[in-house]
Amino acid sequence: MSDLETFRSETREWLEANCPEEMRQPVRDERDVYWGGRGATFKNDAQKAWFQACRDKGYTVPEWPTEYGGAGLSPAEGKILRQEMARINARPPLSSFGIWMLGPALLKFGTEGQKQRFLNEIANGEIRWCQGYSEPGSGSDLVSMQTFGEDKGDHWEVSGQKIWTSYADQADWIFCLVRTDKANKYQGITFMLFDMASEGVSTKPILLISGNSPFCETFMDEVQVPKSYGEDCPAYVGEINRGWDVAKYLLGHEREMISGAGGGDRTSAIGAAMTRHAAEHSGELSPTLRADLADFDVDALAYGCMGEKFLDEMKAGKGHPAQPNMMKYVGTELNKRRHELMMSTGGSRALEWESDETDGGARPRGWLRTKANSIEGGTSEVMLNVVAKRILELPGG
Ligand SMILES: Cc1cc2nc3c(=O)[nH]c(=O)nc-3n(C[C@H](O)[C@H](O)[C@H](O)COP(=O)(O)OP(=O)(O)OC[C@H]3O[C@@H](n4cnc5c(N)ncnc54)[C@H](O)[C@@H]3O)c2cc1C
Repeated sequence: MSDLETFRSETREWLEANCPEEMRQPVRDERDVYWGGRGATFKNDAQKAWFQACRDKGYTVPEWPTEYGGAGLSPAEGKILRQEMARINARPPLSSFGIWMLGPALLKFGTEGQKQRFLNEIANGEIRWCQGYSEPGSGSDLVSMQTFGEDKGDHWEVSGQKIWTSYADQADWIFCLVRTDKANKYQGITFMLFDMASEGVSTKPILLISGNSPFCETFMDEVQVPKSYGEDCPAYVGEINRGWDVAKYLLGHEREMISGAGGGDRTSAIGAAMTRHAAEHSGELSPTLRADLADFDVDALAYGCMGEKFLDEMKAGKGHPAQPNMMKYVGTELNKRRHELMMSTGGSRALEWESDETDGGARPRGWLRTKANSIEGGTSEVMLNVVAKRILELPGG
């Protein structure tokens, strides 16, 4: 057996022994997802056991180095683990903006002190982060953001407003874009980290069409952000006034995460399941709908293959830097189509909001939630602009 084959069979055995049956079921509500953090509680014993087993093995962040809480897996081993988890429908043991967004930025731009502290806290599920980028009037045109940090010597005094801050009311800390030089648009932003419990920080939830309130307005009123959290652990990532570089790098990881690329054969498996459903209910489904399902299935399979290829290239350092934008565009538009089809195949029953038949409204709520996929992390129009300019190199403004 090659090393990778041995790794696959050991992984399969480990998952068999450590992933409880309940953790192999689809996520049905918010509490099925474990986000960690200071005030986190587990929904049940199975969720706790699965999280702890993965944390102890380094599998909350399998490809991060072991000294920062990961398992130090190579990209090829990481891919095998993802495939094996997808094979048994294992839920992620820990979901976190720290894992998907801040962690990769710290690995690239962080000091050793920041890595030791924050990456370990993220991997161990001890800290929950939120993202303070968007402001009223600064979404797609993010670089126009105005939240200002006045230099007071050993600290900044930060005032301003962020908006659409996902889970700000549940987060422990925020990674936040703060203007520290008003004269420089791109080179006047600092990427700061601070505690949401700091005096002067407040949040106000925004209610969504799906009935949830997953994001907030975040207000900062003369918040004192210390310049350092101890030896080799500054409160900013990268350099002062050069936070835009960190922000852009992080956005690439955010977009890759939202695209769903590399989720094993998850997307195509859903396509296949719907095609089966169509075959079984062929009397109920119109020929047009069956054709749409088949179309979707083909596109989902193609996207799955493309996602794996792009991810392999990126992990090998050979990907085009703008690739996540393309993946985000295709992945989110596909996900919206998937949910439209799930609603169509369910007929009027799919609209039931509270009944058991649709898992307590999971289907319509999920469908409404997907409407935001092509907005969050950068809109589809903006993704297409980036693809046109940076990948296709088309002329434009
Ligand atoms: C579910 C969800 C979660 C989010 N979570 C967070 C979070 O945690 N933290 C955070 O900071 N932000 C968050 N956001 C905000 C998100 O990043 C912004 O909504 C997004 O960047 C778009 O900005 P905007 O809403 O201001 O829209 P605008 O930028 O005002 O865009 C309005 C419309 O104009 C179009 N448009 C704008 N500029 C161009 C252009 N140059 N070319 C073509 N069309 C254009 C857009 O495509 C869009 O259709 C979240 C958003 C959603 C929906």
